[in-house]
This record gives sequence, C-alpha cells and structure tokens, in this order.
Amino acid sequence: MNWVKRTGRMEAEAAMALLFVEGLSWVRLSSPKVGVNHTDGGNRNEEDRCGNPAVLVTGAYTGKVSKTFYIETFGCQMNAHDSEKVIGTLEQQGYARVQDEADAGLILYNTCSIRDKAEQKVFHRLNEYKKMQGEGKKFAVLGCVAQQEGEKIFDRAPYVSLVSGSASYRNLPGMLARLEAGEQRITGLDDRQTDETFETEFVARTNPHRGYITIIEGCDKFCAYCVVPYTRGKERSRAANSVLDEALRMADQGFTEIQLLGQNVNSYHDPSQKMSFAELLAAVGSVPGIKRVRFTTSHPRDFTKDIVDAIDAVPTLCDHVHLPVQSGSTAILKAMNREYTREWYLERISWIKAAKREISMTSDIIVGFPGETDEDLEDTATLLDEVGYDQIFAFKYSPRPNTPAVTMADSIPDEVKAARLQVLLERQREIQKRSYARHLNEVMDVMVEGHNHQRKQVVGRSSQNKTVNFTTSDLILPALGNYQTVRITQTFPNSLVGEMLRVN
Ligand code: SF4
Repeated sequence: MNWVKRTGRMEAEAAMALLFVEGLSWVRLSSPKVGVNHTDGGNRNEEDRCGNPAVLVTGAYTGKVSKTFYIETFGCQMNAHDSEKVIGTLEQQGYARVQDEADAGLILYNTCSIRDKAEQKVFHRLNEYKKMQGEGKKFAVLGCVAQQEGEKIFDRAPYVSLVSGSASYRNLPGMLARLEAGEQRITGLDDRQTDETFETEFVARTNPHRGYITIIEGCDKFCAYCVVPYTRGKERSRAANSVLDEALRMADQGFTEIQLLGQNVNSYHDPSQKMSFAELLAAVGSVPGIKRVRFTTSHPRDFTKDIVDAIDAVPTLCDHVHLPVQSGSTAILKAMNREYTREWYLERISWIKAAKREISMTSDIIVGFPGETDEDLEDTATLLDEVGYDQIFAFKYSPRPNTPAVTMADSIPDEVKAARLQVLLERQREIQKRSYARHLNEVMDVMVEGHNHQRKQVVGRSSQNKTVNFTTSDLILPALGNYQTVRITQTFPNSLVGEMLRVN
C-alpha cells in the first residue's frame, strides 16, 4: 500500500510519511522514540512535538545493567505498542535501552509490511547493519516482514540471529535466553494459530498521560488487499479482567487517556464470556481517574448499536468513531471481501448520527482497487458527502504479496489512481471546511499535548480527536496532560484555534 495522502496540512508529518490501514496509522519510529501516535495523521514523537524529552513509564528493573539494546520501529499503532511491550520485556530481562545503535549489544528491528516493497527496504536496512557485525553485536528482526519472509532472512542476512512475528512475542524471554546462550538461528514464526495474546505488566509507555491497551490481536477478516491475517495470525482476545487490571494500573500511574487497540476491536470476544466489546468499553471508561477512552479500529461488519449506546451512557468515552469504509461502491466492497454493502454501512452511520451527543466520524478509503470504475469512484464521493466525515485517510491501492487481490489484474494505471485520489481529497477538504466551521464559538475540553513556542500556542486535542491550538493569558503554560476549557475562535479544515477560559 502507498503512503497515505491525508486531507489538509502535511507539515512535519511529511517527513514521517504515514500509512494507514483500518484506522491504524503508520509511522516510522526510531529508538527511543516509540509509539506516540496521533490519529489525526500527525504521527509525531512527543520529543518532536513539544520539545520535551520522551518520558518512560516502565516496569521497574533495578538490577545491574550489562546488556544493551537499540530498537527501531516501523508501522502502525499496533506495532508501536508492540515495541513498547518488547522494550518492557527486554528491560525486565535486565537489558538497558540505548539511543544509539553504536552503543547497543542487541539491535532489534520491528518491521511493517504494509508499504510497497517493504521486504526490499528491510533487507536494505539490514545491509546497513552488516558493517556492525564484526563488533560482536546481535541482530533481531521482528514484526510483519519477519513473519512474511521467515527463515529467508537468515539466508540473506546471516548475521541476524532472531526472527519473530508478533504472534510469538510472548515467548521473547525464552528466545532472549537462547540468544544469550549463543544460538544462531532462533525463530518465532509458528504461533499464528495460537489462542494466546502477548500480555505483560512490563510496558515501556512513552507518553505518561495516554497509552494503548491491546484488547485483541490478529484478524480473521481476510480482506482481499490486506496482509494482516497472514502476518499477525488469527483473531484472539484478551480476557476482560486482564484488560481492566491494566487500565486500573495505568490510572494508578497517572494516565488519564486510554486507547483500546486491535485490528478489529469490535470483533472482541471475551474468552471469559463476561463482557461484550461495548460493556468492556463502558467498564474501562468507568475506571476512576480515566477521563478519556478511545478505540481503534472498528470493522463495519461487527459494529453494533450498543457501542453507540455505551458512548451515550458513559461520558468518558470519546465522541469519535473511526469506521473504515474503504469504498462507497457495493460492487467494490464485494471484490474487497469486506462483507457489507454501502447500505449496511450507512445504517451504522445512521445509528452514530442518532446518538444523544454529536459523534465525530472518520474513515479509511482505498482508491483504484482492481475493477474500480468512474461510477464506483462517484459512489465513494457521494458517500463522503452523505456521511460528512471529519477526516479520511485515503490511499492508492497497491498489491501486497500473499493477498487474494494480488491475483487480480491491477487494472488502473497509477496516474489514474492519483487523479482519483485527488478528486476525493478535494471533495473531503470542502466537507471538512464546513464540518470544522460548526465549532466556531463552541467551548470544549482540550487535553494539552504540547507547546508551540514559536506561535505562542498550546497544542491539544478535543474529545472528538480534533487538534486545538489555543492561547492563554496565563504566564505559566498549562502542563502536558492537563485538561483545559477552550473557546473556539477560528476554524480550519484540519484544526481549530481558540483561547483558554478561566474556570472558577
Ligand atoms: S484483513 Fe481487513 S479487517 Fe483485517 S486488518 Fe486487514 S483490512 Fe482490517
């Protein structure tokens, strides 16, 4: 799949070139900048965004440190959060993270295979590591490309000692012990049919105010264009009490915002049979100290009305739903194996629109899927109008290895895909101009995420996940993680501007 084009400003995000599949935004992150992801498409590291160093919240390891590691992470929020857990596991095993690969004894590379030619890029990067092999360093390749390429990685990069897909991360301590014992070709590749999830108390969360909790791993949907079911394995959910324990621990540590993560969170199936996804959502939202709960991503096929009812009933559940449609044409949805029609999708949208509070909606779109006609594209364009999304993440289709769509003729020339993408983005920009304008003079709660000293603005985010840049007459700027009341004074297609109100 191609780099995402998003409506509006790309700013610094251009350098971070973002991808998106099913609501999981994709980002290249290097050690130690792990996984602070912003679903506005602005996948910026906390250090980049506010000039403050990233803060680690880790499981406590107090022993003597003699082992060091460096980790480089590519990919979506799932990958970023996997790296947070891998880092926590390594630290718990007595490793210390370093910021420069030159200082590391172990170099880990957490890969993503969504991008075009991802595997070539991985081998290119591994080639750069090659020069360090004489320094006694060890190398590990993790993630989707590791799963996809498997032992071929050892053949092409014999200095790599460990290759593991995400479904095997729970076995990391054992694999690390074998690595330390000098074993050469360690693999974690055979767990895609497991029922177990990667659960650990040791998570090196980068942002001290908001963090992810994975509630479901893998995917059983097999959309025709997507590699995820092949790289992340079958769908498996965590027990609700385990998720709630983690939420309670995070609240104790001072987190106020939690984002429940999964390829399809609303396919969640509590193995202890106690809670539906909507009930789990409400329960996490009821944890004392938690002020905001988000979830991503939802599959329209499994989107049930009780999710909207939960948002209506529990004020801490954010008023935002990301519901990827991918196409507005029922014929293309069928070809994509999405298992719903345009009408089915719009019925779910009507539930969201009927909620007691206004819920912001965002989506993902693939343009130029094999067989897409001008009429199909028009169906997508009219769906944008009909729904009135606050943001879309749209990208051109490109074939991915091992997926059913790879056997379909990629019939649409790249320049046609690019032109179609442009049509949709321009249409969406007009929609956003109108939808953001309706917030003028509105008063909203904003969580502080950064300070833009150049513009003398505080940067924050609303419950609807909209960027709000605001000024304050206070001499001391509100701290990161604080919630402030802001009146909106200006609107743009991708952000809001306002002034902080004093609330007595
Ligand atoms: S197969 Fe479909 S539902 Fe599953 S992760 Fe891929 S795009 Fe999402």
